Amino acid sequence: MVTKVAVVTGANKGIGFAIVRGLCKRFDGVVYLTSRDETRGENAVIQLSKEGLHPKYHQLDITSVKSVEKFRDYIKNEYGGIDILVNNAAIAFKNNAKEPVTVQAEQTLFVNYFSLLSTCEILFPILRNGARVVNISSSSGHLTQIPSVALKKRFKDPNLTVEQLGELMQEYIEAARKGTQLAEWGNSSYVVSKVGVTALTKIQQRMVNDRDIKVNAVHPGYVDTDMSSHKGPLTIDEGASAPLFLALDAGDSVRGQYVWYNSKVVSWDGEKPEG
Ligand code: NAP
Repeated sequence: MVTKVAVVTGANKGIGFAIVRGLCKRFDGVVYLTSRDETRGENAVIQLSKEGLHPKYHQLDITSVKSVEKFRDYIKNEYGGIDILVNNAAIAFKNNAKEPVTVQAEQTLFVNYFSLLSTCEILFPILRNGARVVNISSSSGHLTQIPSVALKKRFKDPNLTVEQLGELMQEYIEAARKGTQLAEWGNSSYVVSKVGVTALTKIQQRMVNDRDIKVNAVHPGYVDTDMSSHKGPLTIDEGASAPLFLALDAGDSVRGQYVWYNSKVVSWDGEKPEG
């Protein structure tokens, strides 16, 4: 019998950790808690084992092609493929960060957009039929967060390609380098990276439409984690709820969608819901 496999990136803490917890409770297969740092990842596994939950562990740094390829080869050899992939790992500079805008733009887009993309490019070939991919976006990934009408139009082009989206991301980095037109992008690297993730989700769904694979993006809510400086009102388990809905429960029609933390599909370019 085939053993099903679920994988969560950046799962040593925060929402990713709670997604692993939820998958361990409900998914009929093995759950891989992955992290860039082995010690932090193994400590997280120990924490869950105290709750009677037993995820497997593998190192996975989404910014390292070598690390992702090693992980892919391991999973392919051991199990043959992946059934659930949750792209959760991300970074966010704090509002008072000292790093120049250029550095923030380059690093944020490198991790949150380009590394999520390259991780998918490496892992998608081993997705099994029936697989579900959950890209953790944000309310910042709502299209209304980009003020420029012209840019919005380019992001929501139904024929947008991965190459063209990459060019959009590079244009923002260029704007940050030059210090020009940043207001058109909403003055936030995190916003651009997450609008990129939501746009990418729609392209990825189109690219796998000939197979039984669902790719969706989700805003997990404003959650009490290190990233939010513990200001978010939701617990990590509440933040894991909509990602788990997409990974386990969403119906067949939910494909290439953007889902809010209450598990409802929202219009990406319509009015942004609360929260
Ligand atoms: P968090 O507590 O800061 O956790 C982020 C996780 O990503 C950590 O495990 C971190 O590992 C990992 N990570 C960072 N870079 C990585 C890399 N190169 N390779 C692998 N893992 C990496 O943040 P969170 O709040 O749980 O956020 C989880 C997701 O939800 C993110 O996509 C975030 O943008 C999104 N989100 C969060 C909120 C919120 O209110 N918290 C709201 C909307 C969306 P280390 O421990 O090694 O740094």
